[in-house]
Amino acid sequence: MLPLGITPYYASLIDPEDPEQAIRRTKIPTMAEFERSGDECEDPLGEDAHSPLPGLVHTYPDKVLFLVTDFCATYCRYCTRARMVGGGEFLPEKKMWERALDYIREHTEIRDVLLSGGDPLILADERLEWILTRLREIPHVEFLRIGTKVPAVLPYRITDGLLDILKKVHPLFFSIHFTHPDELTPEVRTACNRLADAGIPLGGQTVLLKGVNDDPEVMKRLNLGLLRVRCKPYYLHQCDPIQGSAHFRTSVAAGQEIIRSLHGHTTGYAVPTYMVDTAGGGGKVPVGPGYVRERDGDYLVLRNYRGEVTRYWDPGESDE
Ligand code: SF4
Repeated sequence: MLPLGITPYYASLIDPEDPEQAIRRTKIPTMAEFERSGDECEDPLGEDAHSPLPGLVHTYPDKVLFLVTDFCATYCRYCTRARMVGGGEFLPEKKMWERALDYIREHTEIRDVLLSGGDPLILADERLEWILTRLREIPHVEFLRIGTKVPAVLPYRITDGLLDILKKVHPLFFSIHFTHPDELTPEVRTACNRLADAGIPLGGQTVLLKGVNDDPEVMKRLNLGLLRVRCKPYYLHQCDPIQGSAHFRTSVAAGQEIIRSLHGHTTGYAVPTYMVDTAGGGGKVPVGPGYVRERDGDYLVLRNYRGEVTRYWDPGESDE
């Protein structure tokens, strides 16, 4: 269902001789995509059921997801929105955006708008500016966010013209989708630095993928590398159960082990929050490893990063 699309830049990072290369596995389809298992379905997060109109998903009380296009610069084989991206059925057009903007104007509880898709940065500058300036004019919209993989797959898109537009709509945050430390090239460093210099806080979003980044050492290199390009690792996502994705999915225990390998062993800024997005629009749930073992009277019994058991005096929560 999902098209194949890779920018020439990103293709230049792919090893034509090694089908097991991490970043190659995320972009080149394999027959495993035709296998179905477990709870997999087209729309595992129930986004369609929480979509008041085309291009908008309103799951949480004060934020909306504004899907401004279904095109991406590259297509990721594990994409949560594989059911809709790249199909050409969801053309970016002002009429649809106008309806979404009207909805946001009418719902004064919306303070946070996340532009996604597809990838918002594949839109031409003037179209992106059209959307962003209209959103910025809505008084109750406090934050704007752009979810994108473009800085990783098409770093040359971060042009002076684009930055001039982005600088005018602060506060604006970027959630950048990174998968593997091989993506952190000099070109990507330049793109991220330019965004950060424009005053945009950068957060890294990574999907945990078997055989790609489910290795503590790889994840540490990725997260420290992100900090070096001024992007704070924000979320580590469990791979959503879209159809044909079992070959990418690890157990949650494997993800918890990775977080355990980071927490305390390297700077806290390099430790993302590990999330499972629950079925049917239940929302994201943090599933990182627990460090509280039990309560013992006025004490909490904790396990520290070295695995040692320690106690913390916390009488406030005691039953006695
Ligand atoms: S860039 Fe994002 S929306 Fe596009 S295919 Fe990859 S994960 Fe999906």
